[in-house]
Amino acid sequence: MTKLIFFVFILTAVNMFSQSLITPLQKSDYKKITSHSELSQFIKEVDDKSDLIKSEVLTKSVEGRELFAVYFSKDGFGKDESKIKVLIFAQQHGNEQSGKEGALLLINELLKPKNQYLFDKIDFVLVPQMNPDGSEKNQRRNGNSMDLNRNHLILTEPETIGLHKLFNKYLFEVTMDVHEYAPYGETYKEYGYRHNNDEELGVNTNINIDEKIRTMQKKVYLPYIEKYFEDRNFSYFEYSPGGPPEIDYIRHSTFDINDGRQSLGIQNTFSFIQEGLNGKDVFIDNIKHRAEGQMTGMLGLLEFAYNHKDEIKNLVKTEREKLISNNVSGKVAIQLDHFSDGSKLELPLLSYYSNKDTVITVSDYRPIVKSIYDVVRPKGYLVPKSLKEIVDWADRHELTYSDYKKSDDDKIEQYFISGIDSMDFERDIIVNPTVEVDPIKNDLVEADYIFIPVNQLRNNMIVIALEPKSELGLVTYKQFEHLLKKGEIFPILRLVN
Ligand SMILES: [Zn+2]
Repeated sequence: MTKLIFFVFILTAVNMFSQSLITPLQKSDYKKITSHSELSQFIKEVDDKSDLIKSEVLTKSVEGRELFAVYFSKDGFGKDESKIKVLIFAQQHGNEQSGKEGALLLINELLKPKNQYLFDKIDFVLVPQMNPDGSEKNQRRNGNSMDLNRNHLILTEPETIGLHKLFNKYLFEVTMDVHEYAPYGETYKEYGYRHNNDEELGVNTNINIDEKIRTMQKKVYLPYIEKYFEDRNFSYFEYSPGGPPEIDYIRHSTFDINDGRQSLGIQNTFSFIQEGLNGKDVFIDNIKHRAEGQMTGMLGLLEFAYNHKDEIKNLVKTEREKLISNNVSGKVAIQLDHFSDGSKLELPLLSYYSNKDTVITVSDYRPIVKSIYDVVRPKGYLVPKSLKEIVDWADRHELTYSDYKKSDDDKIEQYFISGIDSMDFERDIIVNPTVEVDPIKNDLVEADYIFIPVNQLRNNMIVIALEPKSELGLVTYKQFEHLLKKGEIFPILRLVN
């Protein structure tokens, strides 16, 4: 009798628990996208109900809305160093709603008893909504009309600054940035086919990122997640922008380091981008399947991190230590391009004519990234204190730097900008200055400069950001293009030893 009452009590408790944990989207029967206030309310509720979860306000958006970080940990986040730290963030683009909805579904999923084992080995942070201002208007950009996913290098927006502060605090080994891709554009429509995969996944492609990390992502993670999606009835393909085939080349996503994936990847993080299929006509279109697809990819990443905890932790630790001790390649690739390796790509597409899935063989397929211009890695950079915009930039990235202290052995180089040309960068036209490198006599007034050494975690990022010929550098942004003046000396100097 007592047993029976207890059993009924448990059943009721489980039922109450699961009923209360329904996301706003589920509550609307998948008919209404979750608003920022509903999201805030839901996060407060799960925080109150579960000991596993603690939420905090990460930062506020341009228009003053909270960005929430939801921490999942069994024994206090970051306390147990043997755990692997995973960060997933969604909806940097406000019109990509399924990332946020999938993230909220993930919270429910992770509270189920069957998934509790994950937190024996994982400390996890979820930022379900990076761009609440954009989301409320269903627009891509934030309240300052900035594209957050092009902002991770210049780091001018409160939303991206908040995310990097969080990353810097815990130095997550595994990260994923969740997006949607929209394949319905005119060029593909005219071509007659479009992408139709529920989920596409991109790995780190910038070749300055450690090769072992990139290889494990490509050779171990991608086959794993392909099967994971297919076992759960979601179609999947590696993220493959460009094209349409026969009109332009197909590649594997950008090597730029200004996005959520590569800006963390360049610090030798096991970092990904997930792209779910966007709604066709209205953003609510097929939202249940889309949100579940996004959630499935996030859960798959957590299960992988659980199963490969030591391998990933050791790899990331070793490769990050090399950045910090500057025990890395003497060269940094600052201009890159996509190249063929002779292979053809079998690309799954949906035919606009037959409305059936088909496979197109792509001949102009360029899966390999190679350097087309390297610089010798210096010891660091001398930045005039009068260039407040660069000093502030270093502060936003929490870079280590100091006042410059002159030494007799210091060898310093400066760039003379002899011309300003342009070059193709993934079908955009960007500046490409011609430069002459001159060694200079060290008669600098040391009090005028700060010294940013490269021997820190953002080693590669510093070089890529500050070199004038870098096609991914600060000078390619309008906020910093004034640093590049034809016929003048580039104000940032290289301390070569
Ligand atoms: Zn996006």
